[in-house]
Amino acid sequence: MGKQIQAVILIGAAALLMMAILFLQAQQQEKAADSISVVKGETIERQAQQEGPDKSDPLLTLVNFERPIPEDWKVDLVQLDHGQSIDRRAYPNLQKMINDARDQGLDPLICSSYRTNAFQKQLFHEQVTAYQNRGLSKKEAEKEAAVWVAVPGTSEHQLGLAVDLVSLSNQNLNHSQENTALQKWLMKNSWKYGFILRYPSDKSSITGIGYEPWHYRYVGKKAAKAIYEQGVCLEEYLQK
Ligand SMILES: [Zn+2]
Repeated sequence: MGKQIQAVILIGAAALLMMAILFLQAQQQEKAADSISVVKGETIERQAQQEGPDKSDPLLTLVNFERPIPEDWKVDLVQLDHGQSIDRRAYPNLQKMINDARDQGLDPLICSSYRTNAFQKQLFHEQVTAYQNRGLSKKEAEKEAAVWVAVPGTSEHQLGLAVDLVSLSNQNLNHSQENTALQKWLMKNSWKYGFILRYPSDKSSITGIGYEPWHYRYVGKKAAKAIYEQGVCLEEYLQK
């Protein structure tokens, strides 16, 4: 064999070896890319799981017509102006929300906050009496009253985590509330402060509450953001 031929064979072999090495490298890179995407997939899945409610969080305590306040519930309140009071954990966020609303030229007024069981009883009794005066039987009056005033022991106000907010210039608790600049701002922004519009009118069949566009419930910022973004009510959020 001539030296030239030997050289051609050697170059050919070297080229084949290089191609084989490049091929193997490419395969390894592909595998690595696959394993990265698997890891990414798991991370996304784990994040989605974390976005569900933390059911052990006391701020997510569910109270409604079927679920009375836990017997061992204890309130730690901060006193506000005009005899109002609110849970200590909700207080700084409520204050900030009110201050920011005022900075927008709005006129928020807390017309209801923490209620004792005795006060809730009084409110309920007054509502029942009003219906009885309109000719309803006691049973019918109680049933109708429960749509508008929570039965004592089942009001979120007794948790200390709820506030009714109205505009100073419109304190009528009726449909006109939905159109005030304050309510529009609160519905859009309250989640940033950890508060949710607790009884959206399209969720009445789930919440059991007829209409209360002024009632805001503190659930903490993470849950409020999720509830707002998902367009669900607290009952639905806690089922996740
Ligand atoms: Zn309320």
